[in-house]
Amino acid sequence: MTPPAAPTEATPQVPPTQLGASPCACKHTRYSLPTASPLLEITPHPPNGFPVPQICDPVTEGLDETLLTAWMNKPGPKAWVRPWRAKFEHDAEATWSKLRTLIQRVVGKDASTNLVISTPQQDSTFTTERNPPPWHFLISGLSQEATTFLVNLQVISTPDITVFTLPFVQPTPTFLCTLENFTLPDSPESNAIVADVVRHAMQSDDIIPEFIRGLDSNPDVLPTLINSIHVTSIRIANNVARKQMLWNVYCSYTPTFLTLEKHFLWRCLIRNLRFRSEDHGMGAVRFGEKQFRCMGCKSLDHPTGLCPFPAIPGWLGPKPQLVASLPAKLTSTPKPTRGRNSTRGGRGAPRGRLARGGPRY
Ligand SMILES: [Zn+2]
Ligand SMILES: [Zn+2]
Repeated sequence: MTPPAAPTEATPQVPPTQLGASPCACKHTRYSLPTASPLLEITPHPPNGFPVPQICDPVTEGLDETLLTAWMNKPGPKAWVRPWRAKFEHDAEATWSKLRTLIQRVVGKDASTNLVISTPQQDSTFTTERNPPPWHFLISGLSQEATTFLVNLQVISTPDITVFTLPFVQPTPTFLCTLENFTLPDSPESNAIVADVVRHAMQSDDIIPEFIRGLDSNPDVLPTLINSIHVTSIRIANNVARKQMLWNVYCSYTPTFLTLEKHFLWRCLIRNLRFRSEDHGMGAVRFGEKQFRCMGCKSLDHPTGLCPFPAIPGWLGPKPQLVASLPAKLTSTPKPTRGRNSTRGGRGAPRGRLARGGPRY
């Protein structure tokens, strides 16, 4: 996903879609809603689709083992739903109640008679995460048609609650890593140079070709994977005086053998490469605390302040406070207030603490 390059003053006013009222123009199959269903105000599907949050951990991360087994064994169509800015809650009743109302309204009362929204329970692993997993509720008891409809919506943003829907078999992410330290300006040419450095590093590695050959002996697979590497740039502000250029690396080709598990291994091999360039220094992967994790959508390819979702026309979810409109003195205050309706750092260039480790992203 390409995050917005610069802070935008205001989101253009687009009337929200009314589910059941105006048909979606995109290719997704529409599930016919009962006409009696009350109209629901949701953010319309953008013409080019919603950005896909790059979730690079299993959706079952942090889920209690016994519960995991029970959920896997549940019969019938299943899907996952993750609230915006999800965090594990010991008392999830309020969230669950909102989810239930939302899904009942989206698929219709009649279709959701047997709806079950299963609440995650945390395993006993100690975690220091501010918003610890498990983040996903399990949806079951709906027809295949209703489940597919729900999953195809991807994002349901309403004034009441905003959620992401995922198929039960978690999609393999395309994001591989964020690179820093290249001495390059922000330009499409630079992105192409970085992509070339990554491709070269993959090609000249000993383990990567062997790893791929071990999964599929077809000699065309590796070149296709290498050619599917693409790079986008992201610009962050470490503090008022220092802006930093970063490059996100993606592989847009996901062969069927690259299951989520294999993808994690493949991603790990790439993240450990040396990204040398002849003229522009050596790229370094942002590991550990430098790894971004958006609090809102949980994607790993941007900090919270550069989340593309609140900038979507007609967005009904929480909006960040408009940092740009605040006096400079306030924006450099080390402890910004964080209400329910704000995301860290506002929508534009994130401020100091965002990029400097500290809490995890
Ligand atoms: Zn659509
Ligand atoms: Zn985000």
